[in-house]
Amino acid sequence: MARREAPQLVVGITSRALFDLAEADRVFREDGLAAYREHQRRREAVLLAPGTALPLVRALLRLNRRARSELVRVVVISRNDADTGVRVFHSIAGHGLAIDQAAFTGGREPWPYLASFRCNLFLSAEPGDVEAALGHGFPAALVSAPPQDLAEDDAEEVRLAFDGDAVLFDHSSERIYQRHGLEAFQQRESALADEPMEPGPFAPFLAALQHIQSRFGEEDAPVRTALVTARGAPAHLRVINTLRAWGVRLDQSFFLAGEDKAPVLEQFRPHIFFDDQRDHLDRARARTPSAQVLPSGDVQLPLFSQALGATDGRGEPTDEPGAATRHAAS
Ligand SMILES: [Mg+2]
Repeated sequence: MARREAPQLVVGITSRALFDLAEADRVFREDGLAAYREHQRRREAVLLAPGTALPLVRALLRLNRRARSELVRVVVISRNDADTGVRVFHSIAGHGLAIDQAAFTGGREPWPYLASFRCNLFLSAEPGDVEAALGHGFPAALVSAPPQDLAEDDAEEVRLAFDGDAVLFDHSSERIYQRHGLEAFQQRESALADEPMEPGPFAPFLAALQHIQSRFGEEDAPVRTALVTARGAPAHLRVINTLRAWGVRLDQSFFLAGEDKAPVLEQFRPHIFFDDQRDHLDRARARTPSAQVLPSGDVQLPLFSQALGATDGRGEPTDEPGAATRHAAS
């Protein structure tokens, strides 16, 4: 077969993020691997119910139809073996998802294969795997349990909501808030308003989305992004200046000054909401598909400059100075 070029956005997803595998997972935890394999084998023909990220995946894959080219690819990355994975592929076909790539690692760590498939998003239900992926610079998040009503809309649009600090931006401001309180945070953010923040773990993913958006006219762009942050004025200024410095635009922004995020999310209806704070996620996830960006310390983000456009097509950053900035501004 001909070698396939990776598209701008490659999503690595585990079977437990894509499908509701709660029952099989319980068999695994209570009765072990052999019983789990047997369970999945006997139910090979039984479709798995949608999991938290299935509506997101379906909406992303719809972009390919609309663009008549492959903008997004989804790869199943699983700690299962291929034999146990038969039910997963059967369910992928049954739900009409155009996914044809998979890595079954047979119990081994999945994160090294994120590089092999050039993934710029990893969604998993396994905290250790998410931490490892984030620690190696891949935007990764731990999917919450599906909301009570995991409705799929057929709008030709994919909506994504992001927290700011420790998600799109690095965690240094968040740490000031946690250690020294709101007043110290506000003072510092006002003083540094003109100084862009460092990119956080999801900055590369946002940049990849921006590239996809740029393929469509602004009026009918089928990707809609929102910032939903607990920051309020005057700390909003630094956010705006940071996004300007990156050359990145978000469609909608909500500066909530500590107010509950859930009501805003219910109106925006994202296919997924990314936040690092458990309390925000706990309030949102009953109605909004959600995923947690786990704390991962100081990580290098080699993908960020790549995602901003300075790639040579093989996923390697070009060494031409300023290439990323220029692409971002264009
Ligand atoms: Mg945060």
